[in-house]
Amino acid sequence: MVSQAGGKHILITGGSRGIGRACAIMAGQRGWSVGVNYAGNEKAALETVQAVQKAGGRGIAIRGDVAREADVIAMFDATEKAFGKLDALINNAGIVGPKQAFADYSFERMQRMFEINVLGAYLCAREAARRMAKPRGGKGGSIVNMSSIASRLGAAGEYVDYAGSKGAVDTMTIGLARELAPDGIRVNAIRPGLIDTEIHASGGQPDRAARLGATTPMGRAGTADEVAEAAIWLIENGSDYLTASLIDVAGGR
Ligand code: NAP
Repeated sequence: MVSQAGGKHILITGGSRGIGRACAIMAGQRGWSVGVNYAGNEKAALETVQAVQKAGGRGIAIRGDVAREADVIAMFDATEKAFGKLDALINNAGIVGPKQAFADYSFERMQRMFEINVLGAYLCAREAARRMAKPRGGKGGSIVNMSSIASRLGAAGEYVDYAGSKGAVDTMTIGLARELAPDGIRVNAIRPGLIDTEIHASGGQPDRAARLGATTPMGRAGTADEVAEAAIWLIENGSDYLTASLIDVAGGR
């Protein structure tokens, strides 16, 4: 289905739906080969791959849980086996929890949040560093971490654990960017505001983006495509001097 030759190659975690899907399709439009990782929704992942191919790129769907080390290694292996050495990672997979008072959080809730949003993001970034660092035989490249403006707002009364998990992603971005710059890898984060995706329904608030989006300076929620524009800019030419940057795509929120 895919060949080894030419073009640039990317793995997008959580590429099956929402922001990750928009990034995958936009990368396809620009000629990238895209590893579309997903957790369980195979139908959505296959639809995204089809859309990537229709847009002119190459794509494969790769099931895997970012919180499991063996899955992470396997998803990078599968992408490189299909396309060749990686040029970029969009480290995007993430979850929210139900709106809840902090004092009522269960241990299991917090454990899941930090396993997926923090450990998962760190594992994927580590794997990308191992494969893309020039001193390790890689080509260099770009890592884009999908953080959230919750990291500076705190998400009080909603999900303070989620906000903290994204704070860890911001801090990783700055440290990794400085550590990996000599190895030819740029590391930046995007901090989306209220974006219209299914993540809000998964946290029990399907109307959240529309309801709170109306209260923002721009008076609306953002779209996944508007976040993808920034992510694709960060992996392509034109952003060459950016590293360790935290870019808010949040309509002024
Ligand atoms: P979404 O629509 O809920 O999509 C989540 C994606 O992540 C899906 O592709 C899902 O796969 C995948 N995923 C979930 N858990 C995973 C795991 N353990 N391993 C691998 N993949 C996993 O979410 P979204 O709104 O696009 O959010 C994407 C990222 O942007 C997240 O990191 C989120 O925190 C961040 N963000 C979103 C907003 C917003 O308002 N939407 C704002 C700020 C930041 P399946 O399809 O298989 O379930």
